[in-house]
Amino acid sequence: MKDEQIKIDLRSDTFTKPSQGMLEAIVSAKVGDDVYKEDETVNALEARVAKLFGKSHALFFPSGTMANQTAIKLHTNPGDQVICDKYAHIYNYEGGGASFNSGVSCKLIDGNRGMFTAEQVIEAINPPDFYHSPLTTLVEIENTTNKGGGSCWDFNELQKIKNVCETNNLGFHLDGARLWNALVAKDEKPQAYGEIFDTISVCLSKGLGCPIGSVLVGDEHLMKNAIRIRKILGGGMRQVGFLAAAGLYALDNNLILLKEDHKKAKEIGSVLENCSFIKNVKPVETNIVIFNLNDDINGVTFINELKNRGIFISDMGQGKLRIVTHLDYNSRMHDAFLSYLQTFNF
Ligand SMILES: *Cc1c(COP(=O)(O)O)cnc(C)c1O
Repeated sequence: MKDEQIKIDLRSDTFTKPSQGMLEAIVSAKVGDDVYKEDETVNALEARVAKLFGKSHALFFPSGTMANQTAIKLHTNPGDQVICDKYAHIYNYEGGGASFNSGVSCKLIDGNRGMFTAEQVIEAINPPDFYHSPLTTLVEIENTTNKGGGSCWDFNELQKIKNVCETNNLGFHLDGARLWNALVAKDEKPQAYGEIFDTISVCLSKGLGCPIGSVLVGDEHLMKNAIRIRKILGGGMRQVGFLAAAGLYALDNNLILLKEDHKKAKEIGSVLENCSFIKNVKPVETNIVIFNLNDDINGVTFINELKNRGIFISDMGQGKLRIVTHLDYNSRMHDAFLSYLQTFNF
């Protein structure tokens, strides 16, 4: 990329940097030692997120991975099995943590863009009295789905899966790294999610634009052990009110802006659909666009060609490419990117 070019980074919504307003909220935060639960800003963020989802407890984490890993540990014993989609972040992108930290295996469902049905869950449950197979104890879903292209679940199907979980005595965890995007895209209420899931993890460091942070919510009977597990995983932190302040700022100011990211992603999707070098574009529901190039085009060459123009996108393997819009992808970049695509010939 040349010096005079603007850098357009569409690799992930994790590349955002704190805005001026967020930085001001960070430096003026009142802090204390959060390991002693004496950081009032962390306490305020936890109380706010718990209330938002109608749960009694919330706990701040350094990463979404640690929040999910803690949830898996809360719901399972070593040897158990977790039902999740073949695209699940907990299965593909958490370093094998489910087996390392909790000693569990995953039963993968062959879903549609990271989503599956209550019927498929029923088929995936091992009979509890058949002691040859692992004991199924947890169902985990992701909303929006990451590898599934930012797609949003049908809430009715989630309700049906919840019923299956209740009948079979299974925990139900939501990896809501981008749940904010689903809530905004579908105009849904967080309390509705709180009612059907036992635990929910949400990220502050994705679309909301915070530098660090995730929150895990749940009710007392499960969450009373979460702080110990977080400690074991090394996630007990001290004056992290500086980070929680960014989270509070983001909920006040950035949540509503996700609409903009979704609009831009949809526009990118429409332009890509009309590009001669593109084979297909997956439906765009939120801020993620996944597409395939024509078979005769090499993905790496394509990505490098864009890089020379200061445009960065990700390779998801198997010919799939990914674009993610975010807070720091502004209208000027958007216009430049769309017009580049429209004139680009490969
Ligand atoms: C980003 C992400 C996480 C958490 O990732 P961290 O980088 O550990 O914060 C979890 N699940 C999904 C679906 C994600 O996209």
